[in-house]
Amino acid sequence: MRAVVYRGPNDLRLETLPVPRVGSTELLVQVAACGVCPTDIKKIQYGTVPPPRVFGHETSGTIVRVGGRVRGFQPGDRVALHHHVPCLDCHYCRHRAFAQCATYKRTGITAGFEPAGGGYAEYVRVRSFVLEGVVKIPRRNTFLEGAMLEPLNTVLKAVQRLRLQPGDRALVIGQGPIGLMFTRLLELRQIRVVATDLMPERLRLARKFGARHAWPGDHPRLADRVHRLTRGRGLDAAIVAVPSDDAVRQALALVRGAGQVLLFAHTRRGHPAAVDLATVCVDEKDLLGSYSSDVTLQAEVARLVFSRRFDVRPLITHTFPLSATAAAVALAAQPQPNSLKIVVQPLSER
Ligand SMILES: [Zn+2]
Ligand SMILES: [Zn+2]
Repeated sequence: MRAVVYRGPNDLRLETLPVPRVGSTELLVQVAACGVCPTDIKKIQYGTVPPPRVFGHETSGTIVRVGGRVRGFQPGDRVALHHHVPCLDCHYCRHRAFAQCATYKRTGITAGFEPAGGGYAEYVRVRSFVLEGVVKIPRRNTFLEGAMLEPLNTVLKAVQRLRLQPGDRALVIGQGPIGLMFTRLLELRQIRVVATDLMPERLRLARKFGARHAWPGDHPRLADRVHRLTRGRGLDAAIVAVPSDDAVRQALALVRGAGQVLLFAHTRRGHPAAVDLATVCVDEKDLLGSYSSDVTLQAEVARLVFSRRFDVRPLITHTFPLSATAAAVALAAQPQPNSLKIVVQPLSER
């Protein structure tokens, strides 16, 4: 089969690999769509994990082989995959800190080499401990919609960490695909969103996705606008969906006392940032983060996407064949005004 193999920093190569062999408790899935995720881009650009690997974890496709001991699936099922599933039994899991669970940290889907998602390949092996996260795609929905379950799951997980009440106001900094998901999900929960971005096109999109206000993030009077909007109190929460430390300071300044600032894009280690810690101690503002997905939310995410109550289709702006995965990653790494979610479609060249 064809697969795009990471061979070192910024070195992705189309190679021929054996189709993965699956055991009696596993599935073989022919990949139809795999979204390009910023966490993969970072690994590819900065070489934070050793090669060789096949990345791609926002995957949907068709089951082509079912291990003899697997129940509930059959060849031909169209499915969305989930590559991290916790044990639900360890100390972390008992505290619902699923992303810290040792089982969760093992990647359960691979196209070969050290498991790394494998979605940039024609076939993936789905291991037994992630079968829990496999969701069937209804007939009327597309593989592209299926590939959006994983990213939307990560956003819903983050939203669950916020103590918000209907009518509250939240700031979402950054209106790329993830920021737009926050905007829409919060508005679906009757949270009134102030969306910011530096690109006017994205502010237009934010309004389409339901934001009450969409303002340039670098506007000199942004603080005055928020002040007036909230009658001096400040916002109830802020989500920082861009990896900018200035954005964190801005968010901390714009939320009210005892408000929450949630970091979603600060995934690079080793870059300490200066924040006034009295805003945490005296003003009781919570600084918190959320990383990756929560399999216990998967059914809710599937309902949202497949019912199209959250129609994810407008988020997908570009699709690339497998042979152009490097170009797909390059575009995702340098977002253009007209680019949002970028998806690789391995079947498109067959
Ligand atoms: Zn991802
Ligand atoms: Zn666990």
